[in-house]
Amino acid sequence: KRLILIGPPGSGKGTQSPIIKDEYCLCHLATGDMLRAAVAAKTPLGVKAKEAMNKGELVSDDLVVGIIDEAMKKPSCQKGFILDGFPRTVVQAQKLDEMLQNQGVKVDKVLNFAIDDAILEERITGRWIHPSSGRTYHTKFAPPKVLGVDDVTGEPLIQRKDDTAAVLKLRLEAFHKQTEPGLVANLHAEKPPKEVTVEVEKVLS
Ligand code: ADP
Ligand code: ADP
Ligand code: ADP
Repeated sequence: KRLILIGPPGSGKGTQSPIIKDEYCLCHLATGDMLRAAVAAKTPLGVKAKEAMNKGELVSDDLVVGIIDEAMKKPSCQKGFILDGFPRTVVQAQKLDEMLQNQGVKVDKVLNFAIDDAILEERITGRWIHPSSGRTYHTKFAPPKVLGVDDVTGEPLIQRKDDTAAVLKLRLEAFHKQTEPGLVANLHAEKPPKEVTVEVEKVLS
């Protein structure tokens, strides 16, 4: 299967991905994880991405398209993949279209993690991560057996620098301005038909 996960920060993409990935033998391509690894290793890519990430802004399309293009060619991704956090802009979606067309494959499903913004701050500020496996914990909703320690490996957990209430606001703004309108169209279908038509036209313009 080839899946795309779309959703705001904290909506649960990273929590579901490892489970779906194992169930269907897919590779998990999370641009955020790859970028954070590049920042930690201080690679040229990481150096370029770091500032935008710390500010809660999107990294340039060229950088993320490059890492996805490379990652999708790996043998482990030939059977299928989960794109987690990509595409996030219309340009990225167009580039993805081209890449998949070149490989002669298609996306099976786009999963939209719909959630109210108000829930996300508590999720984000309580998140703890085991960087090398991508396992995610939460102080309240999914606590590790020992605080700050990965259940499986015993290695330390980290908190993301951008998982603060202040940076979350900016990340949500980026999601609602750059990702959601371009890739997901939610219509208020309970409204009268003429008003729905206006919404449809807005989406398509
Ligand atoms: P994303 O990858 O979409 O940014 P995560 O999967 O990392 O989000 O989830 C954010 C935080 O919320 C994590 O700490 C995770 O443990 C927790 N979480 C994920 N899904 C749920 C859920 N359904 N209910 C409560 N907490 C959740
Ligand atoms: P979350 O889903 O919790 O917001 P991610 O781990 O997906 O976080 O992304 C963290 C940061 O990495 C983003 O705020 C952004 O700076 C950068 N990033 C990740 N994926 C992309 C992408 N597809 N395009 C641009 N920037 C990205
Ligand atoms: P600096 O000390 O240079 O400012 P950090 O050490 O805070 O940078 O790392 C930058 C980002 O990378 C942070 O979001 C942090 O959570 C994340 N990070 C730190 N260590 C790792 C790691 N081993 N793997 C993945 N991400 C990491």
